[in-house]
Amino acid sequence: MTKKAYSGVWTPRAEVLCSKCHGGEQLTLREVGKNEGITRCDECGVEIAVGKTVALEHNLMLFLQDKGIPAHMVQTGGMVSAVWIHFQHANGELYYFAIVDRYFWEGEEGFLVSVNTVDGEMIDCTDNSIKTPNDVYNWISKYPVARFLPAEDERFE
Ligand SMILES: [Zn+2]
Repeated sequence: MTKKAYSGVWTPRAEVLCSKCHGGEQLTLREVGKNEGITRCDECGVEIAVGKTVALEHNLMLFLQDKGIPAHMVQTGGMVSAVWIHFQHANGELYYFAIVDRYFWEGEEGFLVSVNTVDGEMIDCTDNSIKTPNDVYNWISKYPVARFLPAEDERFE
């Protein structure tokens, strides 16, 4: 059976919204395309179809938030998406995890997790062994994080 969902939008403000919350359009169920995935609207929580990468990353964000980690979606330029998590390292420095879906970059299943300074310099990165949201969670859990910082921490602007 073909999966159905409502149409979703990845906005320039890094929100994932159903077409109703985005523009007030009436919601109608439609088939999910082969380059799409299903996730939930940030506003109303209804199941929506968006680009596969955005869906995978958004579902990862929801998974990490359920575990108490302040993960959030960001626009990294040209509507390209990523999941970021700000934190203070045990060494006192402020860094962020940037997580991207490998399907987008390499056509393969899994995620790449990098560690970056506030200035965006990459100082660490996973290999290709991170396949699932739980793998991401386990990798982050082993990292020497002193504390996670809220998504809106202005030091990362
Ligand atoms: Zn909605």
